[in-house]
Amino acid sequence: MSPDSSICNETIDSCLAYADYDMATLNMELRGSLFRKPATGLGGNLGTASNNDVHDLLECPVCVNLMYPPIYQCPNGHTLCSTCKARVHNSCPTCRNELGNIRCLALEKVAESLDLPCRYQWLGCNDIFPYYSKLKHEKNCKYRPYNCPYAGGECSVTGDISHLVAHLKEDHKVDMHDGCTFNHRYVKSNPHEVENATWMLTVFNCFGRQFCLHFEAFNIGMAPVYMAFLRFMGDEEEARRFSYTLEVGGRGRKLTWQGIPRSIRDSHRKVRDSQDGLIIQRNLALFFSGGDRQELKLKVAGRIWREQ
Ligand SMILES: [Zn+2]
Ligand SMILES: [Zn+2]
Ligand SMILES: [Zn+2]
Ligand SMILES: [Zn+2]
Repeated sequence: MSPDSSICNETIDSCLAYADYDMATLNMELRGSLFRKPATGLGGNLGTASNNDVHDLLECPVCVNLMYPPIYQCPNGHTLCSTCKARVHNSCPTCRNELGNIRCLALEKVAESLDLPCRYQWLGCNDIFPYYSKLKHEKNCKYRPYNCPYAGGECSVTGDISHLVAHLKEDHKVDMHDGCTFNHRYVKSNPHEVENATWMLTVFNCFGRQFCLHFEAFNIGMAPVYMAFLRFMGDEEEARRFSYTLEVGGRGRKLTWQGIPRSIRDSHRKVRDSQDGLIIQRNLALFFSGGDRQELKLKVAGRIWREQ
């Protein structure tokens, strides 16, 4: 890294080249934090006031995400991320001036020299990254919150596992069961409406962890099927330490499936589309149900165990 003094000079020069010096509060702030830098050093000393100021400067004022190059600014020095720039029809969201194509090279350089804590620090991650590696890490940070395992994209709640378990219970009224073996009945009165079939979720507490049993109807190509699969409420690495079986049958026939639960990091949709579970053709499901094929009555039995 270059000495702090040279970063200051370089940065301020290129900012002034574009910005309206008197008007641009942003640049004043930038100068303020840079001038404080020599005391602490850019890039080191996380959590100091000046680093937080710089961090604030790198937040896009429109979408509040951290900005990554190309970072743009209007002739008055208002900065903007490239995603927002594409959306604002060439008009600065802060001062309404024509935006043009002015890069804020100064800020881009400042960004390069920064080390920042992972955004999930508050959830327990203590890792620190150069600005440009941070995004990559955060996509896979093991402390990142989980998405609610209920109905794919329809619920936007995120959090740690205990938060999500409480949320499933309270907000989705999901059935919770204790134990590593189960015998679950699915009854549906209009099994021919595959498209609109609601899917079901049951949560099992076992080995002190939680597993989601999904059951749903959909079409593979033109063929209507039911599918049951298990997801693990935790990370992939831990999910692989477990196995499970599912069984469904009737009238002396039986289908069994043995698998490894998928982490809820994988979306419900992704697991479903990968067909990583027990798949029952609708005709067979109706055969198992008995009766006159007007009602679906399936008993799914299963067991979860830990691999050594
Ligand atoms: Zn933005
Ligand atoms: Zn502006
Ligand atoms: Zn992290
Ligand atoms: Zn939810």
